[in-house]
Amino acid sequence: MGTKKSVSVLGLGRMGSALATALVEQGHEVTVWNRSDKPVPVNTTRATLEESFRSDVVVTCLSTYDVQRPLLGNGDGIKTLVNLTSGTPEQARATARWAAANGVEYVDGVIMAVPQQIGTAQARILFSGSANHHVLGAFGEPVYLGEDAGLAALYDLALLGIMWSTFGGYLQALALVGSAGITPRQFTPLATDWLSVVTTFLPGMGEETHSRSYETDVSALDINVSGLRLLAEAGAEQGLDTTLPQALHDLFERAQRIGHGAHGIASVIEEIRK
Ligand code: NDP
Repeated sequence: MGTKKSVSVLGLGRMGSALATALVEQGHEVTVWNRSDKPVPVNTTRATLEESFRSDVVVTCLSTYDVQRPLLGNGDGIKTLVNLTSGTPEQARATARWAAANGVEYVDGVIMAVPQQIGTAQARILFSGSANHHVLGAFGEPVYLGEDAGLAALYDLALLGIMWSTFGGYLQALALVGSAGITPRQFTPLATDWLSVVTTFLPGMGEETHSRSYETDVSALDINVSGLRLLAEAGAEQGLDTTLPQALHDLFERAQRIGHGAHGIASVIEEIRK
């Protein structure tokens, strides 16, 4: 257990409540503030915003930066702000500038976990800005990314993008196999096995995008564009929405048109980057 601190948590949503509870479990003295009247987590005390700002560390976990910004005012009395509200890199950088102008130490963090995982070994807390992780260790394993306060939000959105694309692909697949009466329970073991194969290609693809050299003896973009067309057609045959396969098909096809047909799939990044 680290040094006991006074910590204020602003926001008692699903995540903020889990954070306050984890701080109590680590022995910190915790006050909480929430816009509406919600029950406070065990062994925490309700405080006004003004009182909250006097704690050693102020942790924010609100729905958006737009909601958070007016609450912080000029940072009156805040020593250290640990922001765990999700946002864009530019929103984080703007808050870092606001903090510097108001004499506030700023840690920008993102939580790669759901509330139920807070305080467990499964939770990673990526952070940037100030290198001092303060109370982040109470929530999970802190991973420092660098001085640029926008880095945590950048990694967060990049990683979540992979998650959302995977979930979208999985749901499209369930709808497709479901059109033939196949249940999720029958299909999902094959899907998870297949994903573990797919992830083995990522390091090689990453290197190709870095060197911008896309020669392949595995699978050309041409054949993948044809495959995506088949996926969209098969969905349409079954009366399904084909937004996702069609969008991927169109993107891949644009890369094909600018001369990457014989290259590997990683060459699609050339179309994304522009
Ligand atoms: P909730 O919707 O459960 O809670 C939202 C919080 O924001 C509540 O405290 C709410 O107050 C407050 N809020 C909303 N609007 C206002 C306003 N206008 N003024 C003041 N307070 C306001 O969201 P979560 O707790 O799930 O998420 C909070 C943050 O944590 C988000 O940025 C989210 O992206 C991030 N996060 C959440 C994860 C999750 O799995 N839940 C995972 C990783 C990050 P009130 O109770 O009064 O409505």
